[in-house]
Amino acid sequence: KANRKFHPNDTVVDVNGVKIGGGNFQVIAGPCSIETKEQITEVANDVKNSGAGLLRGGAFKPRTSPYSFQGLHGEGLELLLEAKKATGLPVVTEIMDASHLPLFEDVDLIQVGARNMQNFELLKELGKINKPILLKRGLAATIEEWLMSAEYIMAGGNENVILCERGIRTYETAMRNTLDLSAIPMIKKKSHLPVMVDPSHATGIRDMVEPMALAAIAAGADGLMVEVHNDPAKALCDGPQSLTPEQFDTLMKKVNKTREFF
Ligand code: PEP
Ligand code: MN
Repeated sequence: KANRKFHPNDTVVDVNGVKIGGGNFQVIAGPCSIETKEQITEVANDVKNSGAGLLRGGAFKPRTSPYSFQGLHGEGLELLLEAKKATGLPVVTEIMDASHLPLFEDVDLIQVGARNMQNFELLKELGKINKPILLKRGLAATIEEWLMSAEYIMAGGNENVILCERGIRTYETAMRNTLDLSAIPMIKKKSHLPVMVDPSHATGIRDMVEPMALAAIAAGADGLMVEVHNDPAKALCDGPQSLTPEQFDTLMKKVNKTREFF
């Protein structure tokens, strides 16, 4: 179902009225984690004013250490939904366990994070619902494995899948991950699904977000996912890769210029 051979036309995924794919480019922006009402509301308003089409924020966080901040869970989702109401932006947040699905009723785009890309039972459950899924590439997943994970969701009847390249593990340690830009044109060859790029998790370094975001546009990405925090130095998660709202605004101006060029 994900194969280009059987669907020559690009798929356009409609996220509560916001279209992604087939020439429709969107930017998802927001903090790594929802922390407080003030934080998510402020960032939501700022990224909306800069031109983001969707708001992100994690409530269930897949942290490497069990002692790191794990997210606000249900309370975080409530704050995210308040920000959705206040701004009108569709919201994106990560699911870690299918049993949490009832809490995601009003979430517009459900994210499957890199660490769950091959959680096949979770993928099967997401295949049964009628809501778009943002499927991030696994930490060490091949393109074929990534597309097979999309297939798991689509096989159940949910064909609203957006892929997101977020960097892969290589021998390089200067960056958090290595952004595989070549995955974008390769996915476009193999599949009709939209592909977004997350330069924040791909690099882990604030200064590298802009060049990689612009390169992703040149490579043919259908959109970007960018972490933005109102006070990155105090962020409970991923501060070093988070842009300030001002930096995000500058990035959006360059994104628009770059898109005109391509
Ligand atoms: C995220 O987007 O919040 C996240 C944890 O990303 P990834 O799954 O790509 O590491
Ligand atoms: Mn993050």
